[in-house]
Order: sequence, then C-alpha cells, then structure tokens
Amino acid sequence: MTSTAATSDCLFCRIVAGEVPADKVAENDDALGFRDLNPQAPTHVLVIPKVHSPTLPELASEQPSAALAVLVMAREVAEAEGIVDGYRLAFNNGAGAQQTVFHAHVHVLGGREFTWPPG
Ligand code: 5GP
Ligand code: ZN
Repeated sequence: MTSTAATSDCLFCRIVAGEVPADKVAENDDALGFRDLNPQAPTHVLVIPKVHSPTLPELASEQPSAALAVLVMAREVAEAEGIVDGYRLAFNNGAGAQQTVFHAHVHVLGGREFTWPPG
C-alpha cells in the first residue's frame, strides 16, 4: 500500500523525510536519488519514490506516475554519471531476490563491466 507519511520503521521513508542523512544526487517532487552506502560498482545510486510502497511493481499498479518518475530519474542519473552507454537497473523484489529494504527502489549501476545472468 502506498503512503505519504514517513514511517519511523522504514529507512528510506526516513531518508525522504531528512531524518537519516544520504548523499543525494537527484531530487524532485516525486523521487529521490542517493548513493548506496555499500556500492557494488563505481556508480551505485538508489532511486526511490517519495511515497512508500514495498516494491516498484506494486507502486506501478497503485500509482503509475510515481513509478514512472523513478524510471525517468534513473535515466537522468545515468546521464549525469556518464554511464548511459552501459548501465544496469536492478530491482530486487522480495526477500527471495535479496531485497533488504522494503521501500521501492531501483539500483542504478555503472562504471564497470557486467556479466549475464546476474547472480
Ligand atoms: P536491496 O537489497 O533492498 O535491493 O537494496 C537495499 C540497498 O540499500 C543496499 O544496496 C544497501 O547497501 C543500501 N542501504 C542500506 N542502508 C542504507 C543507508 O542507510 N543509506 C544508503 N545510502 N544506502 C543504504
Ligand atoms: Zn518507506
């Protein structure tokens, strides 16, 4: 379920609310981009919606414009980081896919070679 109220038990809602510091690289009314604390590539930015939803596919069902804003910002971050010729967007959905923060986010990864399939 989407929600605009910052919930103290959601880390990314707390980052949106400014209660937890983050190295922000992009922000608008709908989305926020900040560097991952534990980067897996030279560029590793997380782009999140400002509203709370557990995963981006769920947000897309409930509030399509907010989900679209995340994707648009992901592309803008890739351009700003100079990785647009080869970058990876990763969505981990559910604990079985190694999702650890249950506020929708896309990983924007670039600046190195990638392999396929992912692990
Ligand atoms: P997930 O595994 O849920 O797809 O990704 C969550 C990401 O959030 C991980 O890559 C992790 O390193 C990152 N992360 C966890 N806590 C923090 C934090 O407090 N600040 C930032 N910037 N990233 C965090
Ligand atoms: Zn949240």
